[in-house]
Amino acid sequence: MALDLHDYVASIPDYPEKGVIFRDISPLMGDGKAYKQATNQIVDYARGKGVQMIVGPEARGFIVGCPVAYELGIGFAPARKKGKLPRETVKATYSLEYGTSSLYLHKDAVKPGQRVLVTDDLLATGGTISATIDLVEKLGGIVVGTAFIIELKDLHGREKIKDYDMLSLMQY
Ligand code: IMP
Repeated sequence: MALDLHDYVASIPDYPEKGVIFRDISPLMGDGKAYKQATNQIVDYARGKGVQMIVGPEARGFIVGCPVAYELGIGFAPARKKGKLPRETVKATYSLEYGTSSLYLHKDAVKPGQRVLVTDDLLATGGTISATIDLVEKLGGIVVGTAFIIELKDLHGREKIKDYDMLSLMQY
């Protein structure tokens, strides 16, 4: 029988600052059946989209994207923070609550015309995933879908990526 994945999300009030409820997927990842069920849902979505490559931002985008890539027998490329990738990269900058941050992707990570799924654990304002999408598009990849374990509805990230198809397994 299917599990209710909500039972595998820990909600931590006032973390990392007062007034914020942090949604933590570690219990989901820590349970083999729950992790597999979540992965399988994303695998089915990716299959339907003819995905050829997966790209996810550090660090939890790897946790979501890598098992999907493995199951489909396709590649995964990490979008990383400054100074982490050793070869030539493309860069995308995005806004944070205070200031900006950048993500980088190896220039040969995605081939022009490749059908790409971008993954992360959670969609909040959409800044992180928009930067990841930018990186893929800078290399000529086609973002055919985005997938998240959790979507925080109040932060309207979905509107920021409205031009892209999206799967979220749970909404809060
Ligand atoms: P966004 O860029 O505002 O959409 O924030 C999403 C990014 O921040 C993702 O990479 C998440 O891992 C992280 N994040 C933001 N809020 C939470 C949360 O409540 N739980 C876990 N990760 C979060």
